[in-house]
Amino acid sequence: MKLDLRPLLAGDRLLTFDYELPLDIDSEDTSSYLYGVSFPSPMKVKGEITNTAGYMRMTLTTSLDYVASCARCLEPVSGTFTLDLEKTCSPRDMLGDLDENKLDEFAIIEDGFLDLDEQLYEQLEMEFPMRFLCNEDCKGLCQKCGKNLNEGPCGCDHKEIDPRLEPLRKLLEQMKAEENNKK
Ligand SMILES: [Zn+2]
Ligand SMILES: [Zn+2]
Repeated sequence: MKLDLRPLLAGDRLLTFDYELPLDIDSEDTSSYLYGVSFPSPMKVKGEITNTAGYMRMTLTTSLDYVASCARCLEPVSGTFTLDLEKTCSPRDMLGDLDENKLDEFAIIEDGFLDLDEQLYEQLEMEFPMRFLCNEDCKGLCQKCGKNLNEGPCGCDHKEIDPRLEPLRKLLEQMKAEENNKK
């Protein structure tokens, strides 16, 4: 939504907003940070902008229901992601030659309007979790047979190798192979 801030710029003290933002995101896009995540309902957005003698401050809160998959066992994980945002609003021409990083701290008003959706997309990208677990203790899938180990053991031989030691194991295997070649 583009908020019309002209009344605030003309001296109004308060603007409130409450709307739903349907996320236009392709969950099949593997390059997206939201790959594999789907949203059963639009993002709910609610907030206000106050104007105190020309100092405009926006505060808002959003909530977003999601369905993702557990990073270990791939089972669906659903929940609600909430995000709070607080920014100072300023017309672009007042910000002059502030550098990129500083500009990010502002919600920029272009020709009297503030593109709130753009702000929300940016914030979502920064804060939406990259990884979900169905449970902190999720046992994941068996590396050999693929069974979900939360449902019980699978019967495979589980002399688990610490994945951090995998490069060492490979090296040792290689050394053994070389040794055998010499014989
Ligand atoms: Zn899991
Ligand atoms: Zn197994």
